[in-house]
Amino acid sequence: MFKALLLTKTEVPAPQVAITELDEAQLPAGDVLVQVSHSTLNYKDALAITGKAPVVRSWPMVPGIDFAGAVLESSDPRYRPGDAVLLNGWGVGESHWGGLAQKVRVKADWLLPLPAGLTAAQAMAIGTAGYTAMLCVMALQRNGLLPAQGPVLVTGANGGVGSIAIALLARLGFEVHASTGRLAEAEHLKALGATDIIDRATLNTPGKPLQKERWAGAVDSVGSHTLANVCAGIRYGGVVAACGLAQGMDFPSTVAPFILRGVTLAGVDSVMAPHARRAEAWQRLARELPAELLPRNTETIALADAAGVAARLLAGQVRGRVVVDVMA
Ligand code: NDP
Repeated sequence: MFKALLLTKTEVPAPQVAITELDEAQLPAGDVLVQVSHSTLNYKDALAITGKAPVVRSWPMVPGIDFAGAVLESSDPRYRPGDAVLLNGWGVGESHWGGLAQKVRVKADWLLPLPAGLTAAQAMAIGTAGYTAMLCVMALQRNGLLPAQGPVLVTGANGGVGSIAIALLARLGFEVHASTGRLAEAEHLKALGATDIIDRATLNTPGKPLQKERWAGAVDSVGSHTLANVCAGIRYGGVVAACGLAQGMDFPSTVAPFILRGVTLAGVDSVMAPHARRAEAWQRLARELPAELLPRNTETIALADAAGVAARLLAGQVRGRVVVDVMA
């Protein structure tokens, strides 16, 4: 038997949330059984746990779109008992039981070996949010962005994606500007590597289709008017990596930045990203993200705390990343 956070459908959108003892035999089919040591709370997990958006696609569900741990059993030759592994996405925690549990059974194709140099706890302090931040950085670089071209804006700066994106871009030599609703966290954002802190209120209401050219690039996890204003303020030939919708799923923009300034809007998805790109992202995270920044950006909680912290996360009250120590 092992413990899991189990979501059960109810008459209202919010599911019943309970720490439940499960039997291995109840786990879904898969090639690899993993003893999870750490998982995390991502924005999507918080939506699933609170029922604020229809993230869960089959019931009952163990949420948790990522985890790290050690292989217990494997019928796939790529993994052997004891191997350290991690997983992000692939519908885990949405349509297949996920990482907010002490054991999971998944397809071998979905796993990655834990990169050398990272512990399971560090990998989850990065988590899906940090891996997505790296996918955004890779998208900016694939589109030719170099530090000499000018500053890069990161929106949702105190969130999981934003905070790791700041640290990665600063490490690569970019001048990083951070947009936040929590100006009181300016010192934290500067410690991560931001040099200029912008009040998000200046970006999250309707603006002109073309504005002063301010940034060479941007990582946006906010969407809606913020993404529209960011695109309108990108310098000629610049690039925006868009991955999130913390303000909204809408994109009330015009084509002006794209057809008059040659701005590129690069979409970033972490869930179905191909295996090779994931492997590259995690190798780069292990090499390039300054590990000493992780503790100051991470709160560690127990499985039993996940429901309460999910509500705080959606209320914008969590700074950085939340690691769940599932054995605590
Ligand atoms: P967090 O909740 O950790 O951070 C989101 C941040 O966005 C908040 O901390 C806040 O930053 C800012 N924010 C929240 N509400 C608003 C608002 N109304 N207007 C403007 N800014 C707001 O979430 P994550 O960083 O983990 O995820 C961010 C987004 O990225 C989510 O929408 C998530 O679904 C998406 N995502 C997408 C992935 C993909 O594969 N495409 C993968 C991972 C995440 P501050 O307080 O600094 O203003």
